[in-house]
Amino acid sequence: MADAIDVLVVGGGPVGLALGSALGRAGLAVTVLERSAAPDPRPKASHVHGPVLEGLACAGVTEADLAAGRPMFGARHRHRDRLVAEVDTRVAPGRWPWSLALPQPELEAVLEGHARAAGVTIVRGADVVAVDVDAPSVEAVVGGERARFAGTWVVGCDGASSVVREAIGARLRGVTREGWALADVDLPPTDDPRAEIVTGRGLAMRIPLREGERWVAALPSGAGPEDVPDLVRARDPLAPSPLGVRWSSPFRLHARWASRWRKGRVLLAGDAAHLHAPVGGHGMNTGLTDAADLAWRLVLAVRHGLEDALDGYLRHRRPAARWNVLQAFGAAMALSLPVGALRTPIARLAPRLAPVTVARWTIGADVRVPGTDRASGGTVRAGLRAVDVALEGGGWLLDPTRSAPTLLSRREQPVPAWARWAPLPDEPAVRAVYGDAEALLLRPDGFLVFRGAAIVDLGAARLG
Ligand SMILES: Cc1cc2nc3c(=O)[nH]c(=O)nc-3n(C[C@H](O)[C@H](O)[C@H](O)COP(=O)(O)OP(=O)(O)OC[C@H]3O[C@@H](n4cnc5c(N)ncnc54)[C@H](O)[C@@H]3O)c2cc1C
Repeated sequence: MADAIDVLVVGGGPVGLALGSALGRAGLAVTVLERSAAPDPRPKASHVHGPVLEGLACAGVTEADLAAGRPMFGARHRHRDRLVAEVDTRVAPGRWPWSLALPQPELEAVLEGHARAAGVTIVRGADVVAVDVDAPSVEAVVGGERARFAGTWVVGCDGASSVVREAIGARLRGVTREGWALADVDLPPTDDPRAEIVTGRGLAMRIPLREGERWVAALPSGAGPEDVPDLVRARDPLAPSPLGVRWSSPFRLHARWASRWRKGRVLLAGDAAHLHAPVGGHGMNTGLTDAADLAWRLVLAVRHGLEDALDGYLRHRRPAARWNVLQAFGAAMALSLPVGALRTPIARLAPRLAPVTVARWTIGADVRVPGTDRASGGTVRAGLRAVDVALEGGGWLLDPTRSAPTLLSRREQPVPAWARWAPLPDEPAVRAVYGDAEALLLRPDGFLVFRGAAIVDLGAARLG
């Protein structure tokens, strides 16, 4: 008899691979079923946000994996040739307060490598055609034959046209607009790599890649991706000429989310659960955050019988994803309004917003965990992504392996079997971020859920 599968992941895109790797590293038996025989070479998502990468430490992602990437430090909004607002993400605290230009296929290769090293079985060429939610199990066509795979849990990471989403009876709510395109063009790297949003003659966004740049534009009716270079020149008086196009693609502007993310032991994550407009580049990043959140909860459920931990996945990730979806769509719509209607919405709003808040949102750091302990106040509130701190003797405050929920406290304390304890050093740099906190409770996905005096009751419910 085949070995029992703890978690069956449908879809081996970035989200399925990140989830598989995090679960495999925690010792669970994981199988990923992926329809494509070979990795998808399309560049698609161009950037991963730094705090999201920190959250992927639980999936094995290290600084060495990221050496090939190129940081992007925020964005500017230019109305024709006038600068009206700018965001520099480096004002945000933390280890990686920027986004990293790393083509999606390269990130997927990193994640697949970590997943395989952690013992995850990845079956390529496995097209899942039916899902039994009650069992739970799936039927997949592999090499022309139908095969059945059963898992204690099934997670649908099977993208926009998810069969798992359909099987759990979820509807895709929201709206979709046609008529957008992107083009990756050859340009020399600039000294100050920041994205640029250009308004005034329609909307175009210019995003620095590791090599060259990406232009995203709202197209007039009848135009196709091949028209993007001319459109960009027409809309952006500062655009260089000629623009050599490396890759281009039409895309739909989505603001969509699944009406439910779970039925029994079948769950959704990533594009299967939410679809985004490109402003802010939150699509893949939101899915990767789902994976990091879901992984430790599944470990608690499978290893420690703490199934209630899964409730927090819906409580935390659904509103966070919907917020990202709506903000990205709202920004795209506001910026593509005709000249005069809402000429510089960002310019009007920007001075009213705190630069650190804007920077944290830009890099996906400002996602709150609802219902956690906020009693403590100070420079970092509980319920936000934790900020890592360089220690005097070298190394960093936060456990880079993120193998389990971690209690950091000044004095050693007993912790339950599902958690670990680590010392909280009394150093000026740590105090500068965490004040006089005696204890911090850190989730494996990088969220801080308690900051204050020593915890007496370290129940799983505290994890959010
Ligand atoms: C042109 C384009 C540009 C984009 N640009 C950006 C960007 O700049 N920034 C950003 O954040 N995001 C961007 N995105 C979105 C980003 O690519 C997605 O958010 C991300 O890929 C979602 O990851 P995922 O793993 O959830 O889904 P996917 O990447 O869609 O992966 C799903 C996987 O499931 C597999 N699968 C599907 N059905 C089945 C089945 N029945 N059986 C087995 N396997 C199945 C698929 O083959 C696929 O490998 C872009 C997308 C496109 C198309």
